Amino acid sequence: MQHLEGLIPIKDWFEVFDGGLTVISGPCSAESKEQVMETAGALSGIKQVKALRAGIWKARTRPESFEGVGEEGLEWLQQARQETGLLLAVEIASPGHLELALKYGVDMVWLGARTISNPFSVQAIADKLRQKDIAVLVKNPVHPDLSLWIGALERLYHSGIKRLAGVHRGFYPCEPTSFRNIPHWEILIELKRRYPHLPVLCDPSHIAGDSSYIGYLSQKALDLSVDGLMIETHPQPAKALSDAKQQITPRELKILVGEMEKRHCSSENAQFKNSLETLREKIDRLDTRMFDILAQRMKLVKEIAKYKKQNQVTILQMERWQDILTSRLEVGEKLGLSKKFLHHLLELIHSESIRKQTDIMNKNRGHD
Ligand code: PEP
Ligand code: MN
Repeated sequence: MQHLEGLIPIKDWFEVFDGGLTVISGPCSAESKEQVMETAGALSGIKQVKALRAGIWKARTRPESFEGVGEEGLEWLQQARQETGLLLAVEIASPGHLELALKYGVDMVWLGARTISNPFSVQAIADKLRQKDIAVLVKNPVHPDLSLWIGALERLYHSGIKRLAGVHRGFYPCEPTSFRNIPHWEILIELKRRYPHLPVLCDPSHIAGDSSYIGYLSQKALDLSVDGLMIETHPQPAKALSDAKQQITPRELKILVGEMEKRHCSSENAQFKNSLETLREKIDRLDTRMFDILAQRMKLVKEIAKYKKQNQVTILQMERWQDILTSRLEVGEKLGLSKKFLHHLLELIHSESIRKQTDIMNKNRGHD
């Protein structure tokens, strides 16, 4: 049960599957009948688009913002499905929302980042979903907490949901970034490593916060083997009542998905496999050497700590640290490594060596 096994792969969620890209698209919010019908009509002409998404109830940061049209929007969506054949996906944040979504025959529901951040809300929805035959998409929580994301997936899995998928939409940034939400691709990779059978989509719109990054982020996600994309579209993005900056038109979406390359996870080509194997072996050997060097470095750090202790010198020597940063950045950059990467790496090594030195300096001081 823990391994989220037995889930239905995305390709079997839809009656028609051409083996290509799976896209769920539509406006951030359903705003009017005309807007929903116009978007759905245009999207139905894009073969990769399998479902129409629209927010009906919007969890907004500030109460004055547009909070969604409510139940009326579900009627528009129902009509859009009748006219286009697109499946319907809406966000739900409470059992009441779920009840209404089921009443209007919505095919998929998604739980948004804010809802996923609260296990009480997730459990209340999971309880109502027990034995319901509906697809459920689980966005990642607002902050980069993989366990919280997995916990939500497990709650829904335990309710018997078989068409279950994660949606990677990035994480709230605590530092200035170009994107609205930091992708933290490593969290997506770790989720996929732990649950290889869990379908995962990427929502580049909410990562980007800006329409100009959607193409780049979509390709990046596909290169990490996501099973599909959720992309916000609006007939007139500039006039959208929510998330105006990040929405693209259906016509732009058509061009964008046409340009995407869906690369294979692996290739049966023998020559490719051999070259890949050779390169991987080289990397394996280098990694072993790298760890060996790091271990040797840590041993020296321990010796230094003992020496500092004997001579009653503080652990952190600002000048030395500054020196290390400057000289290593210079050498590393000459070797073609990026400054940002070098900075992260050096900080990691430095904080580990401070931790080791603190252990040694405080040994026998009666606390841990
Ligand atoms: C959305 O998809 O419109 C939405 C609000 O998403 P998130 O929960 O990822 O912010
Ligand atoms: Mn949105």
